[in-house]
Parts: sequence; C-alpha cells; structure tokens
Amino acid sequence: MTGHKGAVGFVSLVGAGPGDPDLITVGGAARLAMAEVVVYDRLANPALLAHVRPGAELIYAGKLPDRHTLTQDEINALLVERGLTGQRVVRLKGGDPFVFGRGSEEAEALIAAGVPFEVLPGVTSSIAAPAYAGIPVTHRGLASSFAVITGHEDPAKDDTSINWEHLALGVDTLVFLMGVGRLEEIAWRLTENGRAADTPVAVVEWGTLPRQRVVSGTLATIAGDVRAAGVGSPAVTVVGEVARLRESLRWFDTRPLFGRRVLVTRTRQQASELSRALAARGAEAVELPTLEIVPSYDAAALAAAIDDLRTAAYGWVVFTSANAVELFVGHLRDAGLDARAYGRARIAAIGPGTAEALAAAGLRADLVPERYVAESLLEAFAARAMRGQRVLLPRAEGAREVLVGGLARLGARVNELTLYRSDVPRDPDAEGLRRLRAGEIDVVTFASSSSVRNLIEMLGGAESATPLLRRVHIAAIGPVTAQAVRDAGLEPAVVAQEYTIEGLVEAVAGIG
Ligand code: SAH
Repeated sequence: MTGHKGAVGFVSLVGAGPGDPDLITVGGAARLAMAEVVVYDRLANPALLAHVRPGAELIYAGKLPDRHTLTQDEINALLVERGLTGQRVVRLKGGDPFVFGRGSEEAEALIAAGVPFEVLPGVTSSIAAPAYAGIPVTHRGLASSFAVITGHEDPAKDDTSINWEHLALGVDTLVFLMGVGRLEEIAWRLTENGRAADTPVAVVEWGTLPRQRVVSGTLATIAGDVRAAGVGSPAVTVVGEVARLRESLRWFDTRPLFGRRVLVTRTRQQASELSRALAARGAEAVELPTLEIVPSYDAAALAAAIDDLRTAAYGWVVFTSANAVELFVGHLRDAGLDARAYGRARIAAIGPGTAEALAAAGLRADLVPERYVAESLLEAFAARAMRGQRVLLPRAEGAREVLVGGLARLGARVNELTLYRSDVPRDPDAEGLRRLRAGEIDVVTFASSSSVRNLIEMLGGAESATPLLRRVHIAAIGPVTAQAVRDAGLEPAVVAQEYTIEGLVEAVAGIG
C-alpha cells in the first residue's frame, strides 16, 4: 500500500471516532501519520490533525447540516483524483465511516476508478455518545437489542423507509442520529405504534466532548425538553429503559473540571501535557501559544562553550528550562558529541519539567531545588562550594538575572550561553483569542511570566487586555508568574502549591 508518484495511490477511509480525540483507533492514527493528503469533516475532531505530519495537505470537506462545503460527488471525485495521482490519502470521517457516513459511496467511487482503498472502522457516536452520558445501549434485563436509525428522514412522510411499526416495539433500545430537529415526529411515530409515552429518552449533544450536554425526559416530554434547553446538532437520541441508567452510571460529566473552559498559554510543543491533564479532569483545554521558541545563538560562543565542556572546564551545567535542554542537546549532537561530553560536570535542573527533558536525553540531574524557582536553586548552591567554579548556563535571551548575580556572589564564574529567544506569536485570528474575547473562557493558566506579558501584548496591550482578563479566573504556576500577573494590574485567583503542571491543574481544580 505504498504510494509511489506516478503509480496509483491509496485511500484509507478512517473512522475518527465521535469527538474525544482518544477515541480514534491505533490504526487510524497511524494512517494519519503517513498521509500526504487528509480530507476531513466537521465531525472529525480537528485535534486529530495533530497526528498528521507537517507538510501534509489538509482539505476541509465541510458538511454542516445545511451548508455543504463540498458536495458528496465532489468529495468522491477528489478522493479518486488524488488516488489516481499516486498520493496516500486519508479520508477522515466522524464516528464510523460506514454508519450513516456515506463511506460506502466513497468506496464505490474508488472501486469504479480502480483506486485501491481500505476501511478503518471507528467508534461510532451511536454507542459512544450514550456511553459518555452513562447509558449502555444494552443491559442485562433491560435491553437485549438496539438499533441505530436515521432521524434525518421526515417521519411524517408516508413513503418513509423506516419500519416504524416494527421498530417501536421490536427493538429495546433505539438510537437516532441526525434527528434533534424532528423529535416531535419521532416520538409521535413511536407512541402511535405502541411504545409507551413514559419510555425514558436521553438526548446527548456533542457527546464525548467537554461541551457534552444531556437532556433527559420521556417520549411524551423530550421534544419540549430539548427545545427548552436549546439543544442542537450534533446529538444522538436514545430511547428505551437503558436511558434511565444514566442516573446511576453517569461518570463523564461529573468530573471535577467538567465544562470548564481553560486557556493553555504554553508553547505549542509544551501545551499538550497541561491540556491532557486538564482534559482528564473533564475540562475543555483551549490552546493559545503565547510563546514561540526561536533558536538564537552566537556560533562562536556556542563552539567555545562546547569546547570548554568537553575539556572539563565546568563544574556545573545549569538548565533553567526544558527548551534550553533540548536545544543544547541538539547542538552537542550536531557537534558529533553525546552525553559523555559533560564528563564530570554536574548538572542542575530548575524543576521537574527540566529534569524530565534531561532524562529524555539520558541525563540525570544532580540537583533539583526544593522549590522550582531561581532563588531556591541559589540556596541549594549556597550550601555547596561554588567559589572559583565555572558554571555553564544555557538559557533564553533576556532571562532573569537572579541566578547569574547570585552565582557570582557565591564566587562562581558563570558563562551565560544564549540559545533561544521566545517571541510573541503573531496570529490575530487564533481560536483562543477569539474565544477569550467572546467571553468563552473561564480560566486562564500561566506557566511563566513571559506568557503573562505576551498574552497581554497579543490582546492588543493592557488597555484591551485588562478588562478581558478581569472577567476570567487566573491560575499561576508559581510565585514569580503570580507576581507578573500582579505587575499587570491583575490578581491571580490561585497560585499552584507545587510549581509543576500537575500543581497548576490542582490549582485550577481549586477555583470555586
Ligand atoms: N458516522 C457517524 C455518524 C454520521 S451522521 C458515526 O458513526 O458516529 C452525523 C450524526 O452523528 C449527527 O447528526 C449526530 O446525530 C451524530 N453524532 C456525531 N458525532 C456526535 C457527537 N459527538 N455527539 C452526538 N452525536 C453525534
């Protein structure tokens, strides 16, 4: 199935799952990683595009209920055309490609054109959305059968292809897709055909996602309940006794941070750890990188520092960020060196994140201070004989002076080696900015003082930023970041007890 230019390509029809990006299959994620072109739908979570390698072409096929960006025929033609030019194509479809996904039509078009393809089934929303609402589609004693039914058809039509008579009493659990707009008619059809009007019903909107909402009722009440709650597409409707089990089996939307919209302001590369930890507690993490790491160094100074390291001139190498670790490790590699270059030099890391980056490079930090700030690192050094020691400090442009000054006072000779600077990203249309301005963010997290200053700059300066940030809760990773918040005329709602990502998540959970 390798795609060679000039030869016929290959199309994978991949189920993206219902929304939660964890619910793509291992095979689906692997196909995304290999794809040259990805054609995706509205209901395929864009977060899944993180699996796609840089440079791959992304084509949005649209599919809003009432506004098709590409028609199905256009999508079929696109897949065929790309397949014929020899590309490795992934067609990423919400849920399962063969459950009301029109995947079969795409497969037919590919067969007709002689383009080889495969189907990677996905977790369908018809089962997963109820599951995330605490509703099993079958249950011993309550339901031994279930059906998945389109709600798209007008049930009032006389020529309906749905056999309402048999469905109403012949199947225990009925799951309707695409039907929130037609609940009245669906309920009427079912009761008219003998299903009890007090049969429990649950409607799950945006199932498996942090914005999931569930409305429960009965066949008699559900249309009105849903209208009152303003529930819209996408939603699945579960009809049957199992819908009652939500009362006891509810698990997803009871998590401590469920429904909280939390802004993550770390770099694109570092955001995911915090986002994951927040999502695991039920929050919706909205990523807005406020820092962009741009390598910036003086080649001669770098070469001299590496030479000094190799010739055992340094007693200590002190890392104050994971970025510095990764960049320095890369430079050593480029110089044809590895971890042995440190020789007997000892290594300090300002905190666990930096220590982890070291560990990833096969290096164990000899020193991690008790509190993860420069002052605490200095205290630890004060207890050691630093006089006359040479210290290499790979760092960011314009970093805090505390460490350099403090080490100098202890008699150490510090070589500050600038490796990068952190720029303010320029994307005025970033989703995170839009949502912040629209009041759709509850908590803003800051994991560094520069992220505070940069966010304010990205919002157009203090004048426009301050009123916006006064409306949200601010969580700071530690006292230095908290001070940067106060310097901006704002007040953090919480400061992490432990200055780590986990500590920051705990702090967010503590916001009332
Ligand atoms: N192939 C998809 C279904 C496509 S039809 C699957 O297997 O899930 C589109 C319908 O799927 C929507 O109208 C809605 O009824 C349902 N749907 C998809 N994602 C959903 C979600 N996250 N929550 C609730 N319903 C969803």
